[in-house]
Amino acid sequence: MNEMTVSNLECGLDDDTLHEECGVFGILGHDDATTLIALGLHALQHRGQEAAGIVSFDGRQFHTEKHMGLVGDHYTDPVTLAKLPGYIGIGHTRYSTTGEVALRNVQPLFAELEEGGIALAHNGNFTNGLTLRRQIIATGAICQSTSDTEVVLHLIARSRHASTADRFIDAIRQMEGGYAMIAMTRTKLIAARDPIGIRPLVMGDLNGKPIFCSETCALDIIGAKFVRDVKNGEVVICELQPDGSVTIDSRMPARPAPERPCLFEYVYFARPDSVVAGRSVYVARKNMGINLANEAPCEGDVVVPVPDGGTPAALGYAQASGIPFEYGIIRNHYVGRTFIEPTQQIRAFGVKLKHSANRAMIEGKRVILVDDSIVRGTTSLKIIQMIRDAGAKEVHIRVASPMIYHPDFYGIDTPDRDKLLANQYVDETAMAKYIGADSLAFLSIDGLYRAVGGEPRNADRPQFTDHYFTGEYPTRLLDKEGEKVGRKESMLAANG
Ligand code: AMP
Repeated sequence: MNEMTVSNLECGLDDDTLHEECGVFGILGHDDATTLIALGLHALQHRGQEAAGIVSFDGRQFHTEKHMGLVGDHYTDPVTLAKLPGYIGIGHTRYSTTGEVALRNVQPLFAELEEGGIALAHNGNFTNGLTLRRQIIATGAICQSTSDTEVVLHLIARSRHASTADRFIDAIRQMEGGYAMIAMTRTKLIAARDPIGIRPLVMGDLNGKPIFCSETCALDIIGAKFVRDVKNGEVVICELQPDGSVTIDSRMPARPAPERPCLFEYVYFARPDSVVAGRSVYVARKNMGINLANEAPCEGDVVVPVPDGGTPAALGYAQASGIPFEYGIIRNHYVGRTFIEPTQQIRAFGVKLKHSANRAMIEGKRVILVDDSIVRGTTSLKIIQMIRDAGAKEVHIRVASPMIYHPDFYGIDTPDRDKLLANQYVDETAMAKYIGADSLAFLSIDGLYRAVGGEPRNADRPQFTDHYFTGEYPTRLLDKEGEKVGRKESMLAANG
């Protein structure tokens, strides 16, 4: 879900920094739906730690709870859970960067329509959301939130189709970008995935009843079976029948296109125990480390991960290089993700709160530090200093993904182009000097493709979307028209 500030709306530009990362979960036909949703959201906590919401329906009315903070802060409280009775429900975990307007944007979003209530939970970003929103507002609509997900509710309300499912499909066909979306009505659970399947969405089964969620780890936590991925471009409509059974109807409203899952799910975003588009995230990350060791060998005494993101890749690097793996950095798990704080200054402070050096494994050693990605370079800068302060003789950085030159517009939080480290320095040597490393190397794009089980990259036969590395966005970016989303060369030229 993408958020738009008033000034953004006025000037017609969506801010690169106001991106969200989210997890979604939906269940139908269970008496204690809310508890199962709370558990599912807890497993999806890594996809959004700012706020969480649940909507349920108990046969008579819809119930909504939305809270800032972690799932466990609110949805373990029996008083809160008791406010959400029902046998059908959806939930959402969210991370964004806004302050006071946040609660009204917390999902699921709910609306009473002609044919009854509908709630929506969305992971992703619509690349034409702002454009459609302006058109809708111009025709008299009043928006309750600044979220682009609300546009979908308006489009459903305006659709001329008779059934809710057809109205939903009508609305979703007008949306562009990356989305995994779950909708619910009094009797239906509807799941939809964008035409090229950028964001993940899986279908599970618990006692013969369907579940939809962002990642398989949310099925595992409640002992549900994995059934299949929701296909790219597919809309699955599950309906509870009066006899308690559930019918499942699959529709393919989008024009057929090859699936192109987001590579960043494998690099950083998804939980390592999840299986995304048939590939184990852990295995992919470990392979990234193995390929990195082969592409960018380094003389060193110890391979140290930047936890937790860099851990599987560091294991792979250590295995392939024969250099011992050690926990040279200890992570404090009670601090949110580095990116949670809005300003660069506080973000840097957060890095120090989160990681501390394990001197016993570092002092006097040549340390090969493995991280999953470098975005702004904030984490590397602070951690290298910390490792040097702990007595490291040398610090070499190996990054298990290619350089990031371009912002994401499909639901991964990324800063403006000019804040990306790769756009600020001409090459690895200059970057290494800035972050204070003795050497720096990144995994190649082909090394990444191989790690994820793909063929070598071929622009004519796309297998994934890799726009943050290559600048080849898989959809048009209608809301961004007129803005430069160009390659590194043009950035450097623009920077003089
Ligand atoms: P940076 O400090 O800006 O270079 O960010 C890189 C660090 O943040 C790495 O340690 C990653 O594990 C982590 N990271 C990468 N992408 C994201 C993201 N979209 N949101 C939060 N953290 C991220």
